[in-house]
Amino acid sequence: MLPQEIIRKKRDGARLSAEELRAVVHGITRGALGDAQVAAFAMAVFFRGMEDEECREFTLAMRDSGERLDWSRAGFDGPIVDKHSTGGVGDKVSLILAPLLAACGAIVPMIAGRGLGHTGGTIDKLEAIPGVTTLQSPEKLRHILRSAGCAIVSQSQALAPADRRLYAIRDVTATVESVPLITASILSKKLAAGLQHLLIDLKVGSGAFARDLEVGRLLARSLVRVATQAGLPSQAMLTDMNQVLGTSAGNAVEVLEALEVLRGRNREPRLTALTLELASELLTASGLAETHEDAMQRARRVLDEGHALERFAEMIHAMGGPPDIADDPDPLPLAPSRIPVIPARAGYVRAIDTRRIGLTITALGGGRRMPGERIDPGVGLAGMRGIGTRVGPGEPPLCWIFARLEESAHAAQLAILDAVELSEDPVATPPLILDRVRMDDP
Ligand code: URA
Repeated sequence: MLPQEIIRKKRDGARLSAEELRAVVHGITRGALGDAQVAAFAMAVFFRGMEDEECREFTLAMRDSGERLDWSRAGFDGPIVDKHSTGGVGDKVSLILAPLLAACGAIVPMIAGRGLGHTGGTIDKLEAIPGVTTLQSPEKLRHILRSAGCAIVSQSQALAPADRRLYAIRDVTATVESVPLITASILSKKLAAGLQHLLIDLKVGSGAFARDLEVGRLLARSLVRVATQAGLPSQAMLTDMNQVLGTSAGNAVEVLEALEVLRGRNREPRLTALTLELASELLTASGLAETHEDAMQRARRVLDEGHALERFAEMIHAMGGPPDIADDPDPLPLAPSRIPVIPARAGYVRAIDTRRIGLTITALGGGRRMPGERIDPGVGLAGMRGIGTRVGPGEPPLCWIFARLEESAHAAQLAILDAVELSEDPVATPPLILDRVRMDDP
């Protein structure tokens, strides 16, 4: 089967057979397809799309390009669950949710990613903690899961290797925003991780890949349908990403905010509400709670009683981090140059170009401009105010910038002021949960 003939067929809008899709994935994994051919295939799918059945075959071929984790002999007594966010700015939910679910009896082998484009990545955030190693062998992963109930690790070379190569090429060929390509990319990894339940947090808004609800629903339906048909019961929540989630964005600053929530000291309402809602959804779906109300009560209790914090500390220690992160008052260093952002005139925050906020963090050194680049974990934004808050002279700052150099702090100040629109009249806080998608929805 000549690769160029398969690419031609997709370019002309035809449906590819399972055999042809497996040949493409095999060629991507083994290097038989050159970068130009992989890019051409991705662009053909970008423009022509895939039928449901075709997308499922493609996802399964991507899943089978590497090893699959099998927990059947691990002796776990809880359901194996995970949550996947499609990416946003300030989204530190996984750092709180994974230990919270573990404290409720779930097993959470969370295979997370690094920052991508303007969005932050959970792996970069965890690596801001001194000593933490996110690349763990399957044996070590099992050991961490046994002791802490949760482990947030990076994708090993062996898991869905076709996605690693295809993703890197899509990232630089403007072919990321395609429903079948995103579906196959996310689910190849989730299916290979041996999960029993998956919840997708599909971000929608100015800081997300899905800018509007229509695109978000399309993607959510595709992810839920393909995952469930492939044997992984899944559902999705569409949630707002028109502003930073919580009050911080960056790497170390986000770990500090997650710790504050786990310690019960400073819980930003939207971040806490979303974490509890996602937890309740997964606890109910996986059978750990009978009703949404029971699940919500249980999730709240393990958070308030400090059990989620204990699981987080156990996980961090088992991954090579400090043994005392739960009690350390100053666990992570931040960049030394700190300046407030204060708009010249007073007003209510009406809109935030959240993508621009994410790009500002990248410009400070908190994200990558080139694949594999080292990032600066100590830079970022803290104390970020949300839509509807009043800012300006005499009010608390719009946010604080943590930068390595004063010049970069000043450039970030200008970019943030430019990204935020003010109104003279009060503005309502936008809804947090926009929609839900389940397999049995019409
Ligand atoms: N996350 C992934 O893992 N893949 C995509 O294509 C988009 C987001």
